[in-house]
Amino acid sequence: MKVAGEPSFRDSVDLMFNRAVRLMDLSPGLEEKIRVCNSTYTVRFGVRLRGKIETFTGYRSVHSEHMEPVKGGIRYAMAVNQDEVEALAALMTYKCALVEAPFGGSKGGLCIDPRQWDDHELEQITRRFAYELIKRDLIHPAQNVPAPDMGTGEREMAWIADQYARMNTTDINAKACVTGKPPHAGGIQGRVEATGRGVQYALREFFRHREDVAMARLSGGLEGKRVIVQGLGNVGYHAAKFLSEEDGCKIVAVIERDGAILNDKGLDIEDLRQWMVGHQGLVAGYPGGTHVEGGAAVLEEPCDILIPAALEGVIHKENAPRIKAPLIIEAANGPITFGADEILRQKGVVIIPDMYANAGGVTVSYFEWVKNLSHIRFGRMQRRAEEARSRLLVEELERLSSDKGLGWSLADDFKERFLQGSDELALVRSGLDDTMRTAYQAMREVWHGRNDVEDLRVAAYLVSIGRVAAAYRSKGL
Ligand code: NAD
Repeated sequence: MKVAGEPSFRDSVDLMFNRAVRLMDLSPGLEEKIRVCNSTYTVRFGVRLRGKIETFTGYRSVHSEHMEPVKGGIRYAMAVNQDEVEALAALMTYKCALVEAPFGGSKGGLCIDPRQWDDHELEQITRRFAYELIKRDLIHPAQNVPAPDMGTGEREMAWIADQYARMNTTDINAKACVTGKPPHAGGIQGRVEATGRGVQYALREFFRHREDVAMARLSGGLEGKRVIVQGLGNVGYHAAKFLSEEDGCKIVAVIERDGAILNDKGLDIEDLRQWMVGHQGLVAGYPGGTHVEGGAAVLEEPCDILIPAALEGVIHKENAPRIKAPLIIEAANGPITFGADEILRQKGVVIIPDMYANAGGVTVSYFEWVKNLSHIRFGRMQRRAEEARSRLLVEELERLSSDKGLGWSLADDFKERFLQGSDELALVRSGLDDTMRTAYQAMREVWHGRNDVEDLRVAAYLVSIGRVAAAYRSKGL
């Protein structure tokens, strides 16, 4: 989305990159090599639908191949264009480097309004798009591995995986050609929730550092914090659900396409989502809150944490001065333009940047890819062994207690939890939590450790550009 009077999304990402890279001492030319997008493939293909041939335009952009495969989602939206796909591919490069997922950056998109087509038609379109990309190795387990993004989900990823398998019948690693598949089709537990879960873990980590919380002019923990979420899709829904159900946050407003729903006491996110499912994705008429039209204005309402989780460019030069949230976590990619970023920083708003905040998706995608290549579910070998070892300890404690007449007894719920070996979901969540904490600490070290770094975004860029540069250097560049 191009915001009037502001740089395009792609230019915005590059300007943010430039702001960081000028603080680095890279060898001549390396800066340019990292910044540029290596290639963008545009495809126009036809599908016979409803008695006529419909022509669709799609893109797959590869920003950086310092590591392969390259990785990045496929977006279905009418506004998809080359500039947007290249911006998103660049963000993928930096994101993967920041969370140490061993991938280069890529992104794809198809100009389509998925709501205009039924399931069978969407399958035909997706398979045809996938065919075009597969035959050019732009979908490939070792070279380019897509994932879901706006407008796509498990279903589309399963179609893509199947299309690849049909075209590569002897490739034993075929399932690793795409991530975000449903668990029955080679996916991994916890992938659907991963990006929203990552937003929750990112906020938990932020609130563990009192000094950082104070910089956002906040205090205490997540409990009771008033939150506004834009976009109750995959990312926004999971983030809002987990923050409200598990951390005691109050979601006081949800902004959607058809306006916003407000409730000062906190919305029941699961209930609202169920309402949307039954009402063509609309929030108007939801009985658990007040509906207002013109949702964008609700971004400017007072709250503690603002979570834009819909699309890019929603906070721009024009509305940035009116934003009241002291803390913004960019669950969407690029929701704050370069110009708005400047205004918000001057106002003292703390921004947890997209390349970190929404990295939960690619992190769990990485786990799924590893699972597909290893052909075994995480936890399958060790879960019962873990349980047996814990049981040994519990039995020994109980024996000691009874032999020595100590009268100790372990609480039943403790025993149950302690005896449980880790299944795939528990391992995925643990790996995701560890990743989000480690990446935050890497950013934070730069943020607080250098006088010339004033915000988390520049800190994030410095960490990731440093890692990408190191990868290029070891390739002899
Ligand atoms: P989605 O399609 O599941 O959800 C997007 C939601 O935003 C929908 O509910 C839609 O109705 C709403 N929306 C669209 N336009 C809006 C507007 N103008 N105002 C308010 N709401 C609007 O998409 P998603 O997968 O949740 O992705 C959302 C953002 O998160 C995107 O920027 C995407 O690139 C980013 N992201 C997604 C993932 C992932 O795993 N899905 C990973 C990383 C980043």
